[in-house]
Amino acid sequence: MRLAFIQARAVDESLALADVSGALLNRGHRPRLFLDRHEPRLAAVVRRWDPELLIVQAAMLGEPWLMDVLGRLPKGIPIVLVGTGITFEPELLLRALAVRDEVIGIRGELDDSLPAFVDGVGIADLPGGVWFDGELRTKEVGEFPSLDGRPLPHRGLYFDRYPFLGAFPWKRFASGRGCIHACGYCYAAPLRAMHQDAKRGVRRKSVDRVIAEVLAVQRQWPLERVHFCDDLFLPKIGWLEEFAERWPSEIGVPFSCNSSPETMTPRNAGLLARAGARLVGLGVESGVDALRHGPLGRPTETEVIRAAVARLKEAGIQVQTFNMLGFPGETLDDALETVRLNQEMGADRVRATLAWPMPGSAMHLDAVERGLPDDMEEATKGSMRAVCVEDRAAFESLSALFRLGVVGRIPPPMLKAMTKIPVSLLRPLTLYDGFQELRWSGVSVPAGLAYALRAGRPVHRVTYHAALP
Ligand code: SF4
Repeated sequence: MRLAFIQARAVDESLALADVSGALLNRGHRPRLFLDRHEPRLAAVVRRWDPELLIVQAAMLGEPWLMDVLGRLPKGIPIVLVGTGITFEPELLLRALAVRDEVIGIRGELDDSLPAFVDGVGIADLPGGVWFDGELRTKEVGEFPSLDGRPLPHRGLYFDRYPFLGAFPWKRFASGRGCIHACGYCYAAPLRAMHQDAKRGVRRKSVDRVIAEVLAVQRQWPLERVHFCDDLFLPKIGWLEEFAERWPSEIGVPFSCNSSPETMTPRNAGLLARAGARLVGLGVESGVDALRHGPLGRPTETEVIRAAVARLKEAGIQVQTFNMLGFPGETLDDALETVRLNQEMGADRVRATLAWPMPGSAMHLDAVERGLPDDMEEATKGSMRAVCVEDRAAFESLSALFRLGVVGRIPPPMLKAMTKIPVSLLRPLTLYDGFQELRWSGVSVPAGLAYALRAGRPVHRVTYHAALP
């Protein structure tokens, strides 16, 4: 069957779609990707491919694009919505059906369910199926698909059709899926519950498999930096020991990854350094223990975060922190404590996100009780608003100033005064932010600029994960 995957932009490149595309190819189907931003005549090129099914990314914080593209895609071809949006908010299907007919959805990880649907399993029998027959129906999502024995991901889905993506020497991979934590703002715990997985665990690929996936890419496309975008790279010491032993000789490319402060033991930090890690991302979220433990549902102590950062730095690995601003109950002074903590720890790179109660999360349940903000559905990644707090303007300005404030060590009282500057006047700082992102990726400025001009700004990337498009 000819299948068309439809996404908005190259920056939305999804490992989950490459995984399921590999499975579809292996079954003799013909998947092809169409990126709206890179196809000036999207409807015409899709029609020429003459697909029998359109698989459209329905991701969180991507709804305005989704509704627009549904109206433009060729008529008369069934559409399946996949991704974080339809997974955690199946009611999205009702809004899609207001735009066009013949739309259904599939929730959860797609590795088994999408190929089964393409091979003829009806939507009402399909684990994760979402459809409308006078009322909205959902079929239970099954167990998590096993990651063992899968066909290799079809990275050519992106890199062959859009060669500028293949030419970019920084590439993402996943060594596993899942997380041992259950933060209140995150998709990990609700996804586990949806897939009826009682354990908090990481489903890890073997080191053999990870190396095979990377080698398959390295043989065909330039590869100078690898980023493991797993939620949590570290929890299994035996795996890390084998990885540290083999990665330098079998791949030999510097890499970055994400983990949590709790997993950053001195031994793990040492193994990461031995393997060739250049940068590790850790969640800080808030500089105030009570807020991190309370509204954010993350029981990590500040002292554990400080120790993790210190261990990484001792091992010669740079640290990137993830921070959240403007969550329910946070004041501007609290947010400035987050700046202060990052400055004190000497975070090398920082990211700050304005809080958005993700449907399905504990933060969303809390927001529903408090009354959801009116403008939640209009939010997109490129135009985030501080929807959870009253002093929106100051938080939005702080979000724009955060990276400069930490890296430039601007005293928090001065930064507070600067939050009176309207965010519209702080837009040029996105260039500084982009430059900082390039620095952590380790890619040269010309290569980074060439990629950014074609692919779009990372700030526009919708909310997806290694496990879900
Ligand atoms: S935010 Fe990160 S550490 Fe927390 S549950 Fe999600 S993936 Fe795990």
